[in-house]
Amino acid sequence: MTEKISNEALKIWMALPISARRKILSNVWCPDCRTAVTICDYSTDFDGGIVVLRGFCGICGHKVARVLEGCGESSRKTQKCGLEYYIFDVWLYGDEKCTDEKRIIRKIQIAGTKSLYNFARVIVQAFGFYFDHCFGFYDTLKDRMNCKKAFELFVDVGEEPTRGIAKGVKKVKISQAFKYIGEKLIFLFDYGDGWQFTVELKERRNAEKWDLKPIILESIGKAPLQYPPCEDEIENDEER
Ligand SMILES: [Zn+2]
Repeated sequence: MTEKISNEALKIWMALPISARRKILSNVWCPDCRTAVTICDYSTDFDGGIVVLRGFCGICGHKVARVLEGCGESSRKTQKCGLEYYIFDVWLYGDEKCTDEKRIIRKIQIAGTKSLYNFARVIVQAFGFYFDHCFGFYDTLKDRMNCKKAFELFVDVGEEPTRGIAKGVKKVKISQAFKYIGEKLIFLFDYGDGWQFTVELKERRNAEKWDLKPIILESIGKAPLQYPPCEDEIENDEER
């Protein structure tokens, strides 16, 4: 970053009314504090033709940055905050060909920066299950020898993975696991009960604002009970 460019960015920044500048300076998102904070010791520069303030959180000192929308060399609108949402269809039981009664789908929007571990928890909760078992994501379950993509919690917890090529799930981001629209992985949850979900990446979308909260966009079909009551319990219920 040459001084000339920084000066140019500074000029654009200083051309804003002081009230607007004050408002922006006191409204910078800190990922550590998880709130809007005042930016300190900031400098200005260009990033992709847009003015960016870089400095430190006034509360915790963490590095923070603020993009000035609409303030740049060009007024072209690039992505607003750099966050990308990944939108998935997650099928319990099979795929598009399955019967209506087995059509159990959750459409999930989640930031691509989230780990597979976080994604797994969102999936499991979207189906009303407890997040209480080991799991993995695989390109295939049928042919172990030809499995080219596998991510298993076993790797993170230091246990023997079921596939030699398996990576972990806590450090791998969704954006690193899913590379193209239409890519499918099988999410296997609970190696005992063997719940199988097909996870298909349907769309990637630039976020309007920085919000990491995952969203269940659509819920089709009633999920089965993860732990159906055993017959004794049902009989007891009827006697009451
Ligand atoms: Zn902070």
